[in-house]
Amino acid sequence: MRQGLNHTFKGILSILTLWILTLAGACAPIPTPTPASTATPLPVFTATPTHTSIPSPTPTPQENILSRPRYTLTAVLDYPAHSLNVQERIAYTHAAEESLSEVWLVMDALLYPGAFQMDSLQSVSGPALKDVRQERIWIKAQLKTPLQKGETLELDMAYRLNLPARVAQEGLRPQVFGWSERQTNLVDWYAYLPPYIPGEGWLAHPPGYYGEHQVYPLSDFEVNLQVLGAPAGLTIAASAPESQRGEWYTYTLEGARTFALSLSPSLTHTTRQVGTVIIHNYTFPYHQNAGERVLNTAAQALELYARLFSPYPHQHLAVVEADFLDGMEYDGLFFLSYGFYNLDNGTPAQYLVALTAHETAHQWFYGVVGNDQALQPWLDEALCTYAEKLYYETYAPEALTWWWEARVKYYQPRGYVDDSIYNPHGEAQPYRAYRDAVYLNGAVFLDELRRAMGDEAFFDFLRLYVSENQGKIASARDFFGLLRKMTSVPLEPLLQRFFQFIP
Ligand SMILES: [Zn+2]
Repeated sequence: MRQGLNHTFKGILSILTLWILTLAGACAPIPTPTPASTATPLPVFTATPTHTSIPSPTPTPQENILSRPRYTLTAVLDYPAHSLNVQERIAYTHAAEESLSEVWLVMDALLYPGAFQMDSLQSVSGPALKDVRQERIWIKAQLKTPLQKGETLELDMAYRLNLPARVAQEGLRPQVFGWSERQTNLVDWYAYLPPYIPGEGWLAHPPGYYGEHQVYPLSDFEVNLQVLGAPAGLTIAASAPESQRGEWYTYTLEGARTFALSLSPSLTHTTRQVGTVIIHNYTFPYHQNAGERVLNTAAQALELYARLFSPYPHQHLAVVEADFLDGMEYDGLFFLSYGFYNLDNGTPAQYLVALTAHETAHQWFYGVVGNDQALQPWLDEALCTYAEKLYYETYAPEALTWWWEARVKYYQPRGYVDDSIYNPHGEAQPYRAYRDAVYLNGAVFLDELRRAMGDEAFFDFLRLYVSENQGKIASARDFFGLLRKMTSVPLEPLLQRFFQFIP
């Protein structure tokens, strides 16, 4: 009874403080503020597959993703003007048997009108470019002569980003990229190569209404940053450790999906060492207690996931309190909304803790093992949501019932786990339908799978799934193929209840 009352109270708190989050295309499942006592009828989910123009997920042949692009970025940020001048060099070695006649770059800043202004793009090694053009969020260029297997193309690019103001707008997903008075975020801020799939071409998806559309090959980064007009006390959080040379900050990150930066004159900085990893924790000053809880949770989660899945591949993890209403993962850095810090209740039974565990898990399911976030988002989101449960089982068993009831069952999750970010469902709450299916029903599926297989086989499977797909872009085919090898338990009835496409 007490728990029921407590839950209702939390539901009301959520209504007051987090209602706008429900509009979001969040990385982390966001509480939908439906009070328990007046639960609205859930939309009826139709079991008919509704993918139309979006093709079904194509398995990615692992052996064919061999190239590892290298980015050398030199950026000058005019902090008060919110503008960034970037010189970028991209080195790409073609690994496919077939020759390459066109190169694609993704520039997500093209989503924001006027944010991206290209000064030049040229080849400095390998075939020259012709017919450079921009389409939606892509920059495409023909190669004057085809690039053959094993040959390297080096591109030099110069461009200016006019960072967009980050303003919460009703009905639109919270924006990570850009600036607010308290925080400037550089995420997906450089032009990057999508994976090249032999026989198919560049794997680059358009943005959806919610969720992430990016697919990232493992890459290497060298970043040099200068900040002009820096406000007093400017703090820089980044995906990698910083070293300073005069006015330049330099960073090196090898074997990562992305490189993100967050700058703020307000954030305070504390650290915690976990083995050889330093966790850097950035918190707004009035959230010190909540920030300490986030740091503790991230340290515990990092230790747990390193034990369960694979060693953490870097020496650095930045955890940044976000001045936007969302959580979002990047390699070596994740954001967690100030909205969750505001609601800190001093216990593990809260979203602040659950989502810290969730975002930390993305360092494995997104970072170590990549996936097609647009067409197969469950491969990171369901696993990260279920990783929250593993966190609670290990470190806060007293809150496990809260997690299962308030986080998952309360929403009566339904819908196929292998939903894409493009499926609009034709429902009044399309994001909720997406979240309930991919994140929450995904966690229900994994829990049922674990019970069917038994703990030993389940955790062996997870460990092997990570080790076999480390550094790659895993697909549902990889997941199910390995699963069938790891157990003699008949799984098809279970899979058919949760998935539309079972490769
Ligand atoms: Zn997530």
